[in-house]
Amino acid sequence: MNVHKAERLPVQRGPAAWNAILPAQPYSAPVDGDIRVDVAIVGGGFAGLSAAKRLRQQDASLRIAVLEASGLAEGASGRNSGFMIDLPHDVQSDDYAGTGVEEDKKMIALNRAAISFAKECVEEYGIDPAYFDPAGKINGAASETARNLNESYAKHLTELGEASEMLDAKAMQEVTGSRHYTSGLYTPGTVMIQPAGYIRSLGTGLRRDGVFVFEESPVSKLARVNQDWILTTPNGHVTAAKVILANNGHLESFGFARKRLMHVFLYASMTVELDVDALSRLGGQPRWGITPSDPMGTTMRRIDTAQGGNRVITRTCASYLPGMVPSKSAVDRAAKVHRRKFADRFPAIADVPMEYSWAGHLCLTWNGVSVTSELEPGLFSACCCNGLGTVRSTLTGIAAADMLLNRPSKISAHFMAEPEPSKLVPSPFAEIGANLYFRWKEWRAREE
Ligand SMILES: Cc1cc2nc3c(=O)[nH]c(=O)nc-3n(C[C@H](O)[C@H](O)[C@H](O)COP(=O)(O)OP(=O)(O)OC[C@H]3O[C@@H](n4cnc5c(N)ncnc54)[C@H](O)[C@@H]3O)c2cc1C
Repeated sequence: MNVHKAERLPVQRGPAAWNAILPAQPYSAPVDGDIRVDVAIVGGGFAGLSAAKRLRQQDASLRIAVLEASGLAEGASGRNSGFMIDLPHDVQSDDYAGTGVEEDKKMIALNRAAISFAKECVEEYGIDPAYFDPAGKINGAASETARNLNESYAKHLTELGEASEMLDAKAMQEVTGSRHYTSGLYTPGTVMIQPAGYIRSLGTGLRRDGVFVFEESPVSKLARVNQDWILTTPNGHVTAAKVILANNGHLESFGFARKRLMHVFLYASMTVELDVDALSRLGGQPRWGITPSDPMGTTMRRIDTAQGGNRVITRTCASYLPGMVPSKSAVDRAAKVHRRKFADRFPAIADVPMEYSWAGHLCLTWNGVSVTSELEPGLFSACCCNGLGTVRSTLTGIAAADMLLNRPSKISAHFMAEPEPSKLVPSPFAEIGANLYFRWKEWRAREE
């Protein structure tokens, strides 16, 4: 009998603001008693819900259960900045450019397949279009160095046959209301999502389609008994012929991919709803998204009433936390940095308070691969988002579903061809070293 006990469960620090600003939605009932399904999915983020949707599309007769430890959109899937990016966006590089023209073209096609899949879900389930806005995004630049990074990225995009447009300081101010940015690079293919709105609505659509979506149902044990897997939750068991682990970095908590996953936390803050006076001092357009031209810089986003209020979201700071638990002091430290970055960009509304500050979990591998495979008979994984999970985890979820059904697709072929994640070099100084490295990269990107 194979048994995998969860060594730890997710700990969320700070509120999942995107969820908090939407009308309250009570959690669905947790697993209560013992049930039997064909497929059980652990984790209700982009990966888990996409896997459920793909299974449903391929075989409507399957009984499927999604088990989420907390509430939908309370994990990283509701804590991100909501850029669903089609282009190469290698967060471990200096300017996002990927590994080469052919590889990047393949990745763009896959990213667009994920975006199309999400768009189909939006249309089929009648998801609010404000939660899925194909507005494109801008790589903002505040210095000459950053402008050069944008130019080198634009050149790379031209080689790929992709459109982009350089914006000057005036155009940047017209969009954002800020004089901070001296230039920017607009690319049209990004979809700006309200991540919690999208995830919650996807969950609602799946429930309507007959998928069981259990919230507050952390899985503490997976046991192989005869041909089945039995999943233990606080109030009951789920027996399934097949299981997909879609719990991102917490794959390691069940003992898989040990010492191969890097657990990084990102931090963000969101303002209170801006009143009429603050809005007129801010200016600019009601919705926009700026990624920094240096990946270690600051992401800014402005949303409007249809997305949960007129607010500005600031995201910067990262920490490497192998224990997977961010501290309150780390969130407080990041919140101070957010305030400063916000004030630098919007001095006219520097007095506007932040209503929410939070941390969220990313899972990266040294060689940039995910863990999407059959781990043991009937036990599949769709894990390790590598930083861009709105698309990547949508893809891993689809791929795991295709592998489970033994229906090969271009998406599953991509993940099946990936090598194993590289082993991390064990060192007592790794955590300190990685965090010093982050601080240095953040300092280098301080204006961005
Ligand atoms: C501040 C921030 C900004 C970001 N910005 C962007 C962005 O703009 N664009 C982008 O593409 N990505 C962004 N990301 C990354 C993105 O949020 C993640 O890549 C994405 O959420 C990964 O989706 P997932 O489904 O793989 O994992 P998760 O969203 O982590 O979902 C896994 C789920 O599994 C659940 N779980 C774990 N263990 C168990 C268990 N034992 N039992 C039951 N459930 C369990 C967790 O509660 C969680 O809900 C950002 C992340 C952060 C933190």
